[in-house]
Amino acid sequence: MITFEHVEKRYPDGTVAIGDLSFTAATGQLTTLVGPSGCGKTTSLRMINRLIQPTGGRILLDGEPTLDMDLITLRRRIGYVIQHVGLFPHRTVADNVATTARLAGIGKRAARTRATELLERVGLAPELAARYPWQLSGGQQQRVGVARALAADPDVLLMDEPFSAVDPVVRAQLQQQFLQLQRELGKTIVMVTHDIDEALTMGDRIAVFRTGGDLVRFAPPEELLREPGDRFVADFVGGDRGYRGLGFVHARSLTIDDEEALVVGAERAAGEAGWRPVVDAAGIPLGWSGPGEAGPVLAEQITVTSTPARRDDSLRRLLNAGLSAPDGRGIVVDGDGRYAGTVALAEITGALVRERGAAEPA
Ligand code: ADP
Ligand code: MG
Repeated sequence: MITFEHVEKRYPDGTVAIGDLSFTAATGQLTTLVGPSGCGKTTSLRMINRLIQPTGGRILLDGEPTLDMDLITLRRRIGYVIQHVGLFPHRTVADNVATTARLAGIGKRAARTRATELLERVGLAPELAARYPWQLSGGQQQRVGVARALAADPDVLLMDEPFSAVDPVVRAQLQQQFLQLQRELGKTIVMVTHDIDEALTMGDRIAVFRTGGDLVRFAPPEELLREPGDRFVADFVGGDRGYRGLGFVHARSLTIDDEEALVVGAERAAGEAGWRPVVDAAGIPLGWSGPGEAGPVLAEQITVTSTPARRDDSLRRLLNAGLSAPDGRGIVVDGDGRYAGTVALAEITGALVRERGAAEPA
């Protein structure tokens, strides 16, 4: 748990980066700090590991003022990931990660084992371990940065725009993999971003800042989307927040039609009306076979438009599955990504109305 108590940061030139900031980042949760450029996000983050000294108030780590703690001990408990990862250029990927573990007092052999393990956990192929940072893509370097920050097994992870330097596709992958990792690790994380979508995707709680380190809102994402509270937050969250809010709503009940799918290569009977879902030999959905198509279902004839969703996915994903399918039935998959059936768009919108109603304050 990280607690800000009336924290102030006035830079020597008189700039008040943070006026009077109080909030608590809960243990085991991911808290995102979001707001326009220059609003004091980085300053707030760097005051946690004392890279920057507050000029007023105090910050506590699990109830203990950080100022009372030995700086080395404090830093060991806190991993730090920045945008341009700052890897050691003359050390291999494995050494970059192992170095942090070594600094935390872990033996040479154990540090190497740990490095290998962590590189795998962040999704890097083992053969990359022997490369140098410049031989990696931006996204891969960012993964190494995360592995390195985790190598000393800190309780706390601070991340400053960790995924901002990579393209949107890679960023989305990194976000999802990192969330998966966090589900396993349960670290206390404070993450800075200027991107509200990233803040909403990643955060258990979101702190929305205005210039001067002014905390205008501190809430879970679904609440922020449902009730922004004021104009600044509403504008910042954006006009399509109603739609995005569905990303946090799940259907408690949904009728799935377990209609049979066609396996690619199999014969489709002549004279059959309607679209039929098509799967590969392993049951992974490939798309749809169009109305009136007959004979063997050829891979190149499949209409590949649908994005499957799981039955327990958010209504946003289910709605997307329904809307991206050719005739208003979304493909539903099980946890392994195998075909489980279809769901009618009307069923999804029905669930949407029910769940929205349930979420409204009485
Ligand atoms: P953010 O990360 O939200 O973009 P920062 O925390 O980096 O914002 O900066 C907050 C404010 O403090 C900005 O006005 C910035 O110009 C100012 N600032 C940051 N570092 C210094 C510094 N070393 N000296 C003076 N002003 C600074
Ligand atoms: Mg910043």
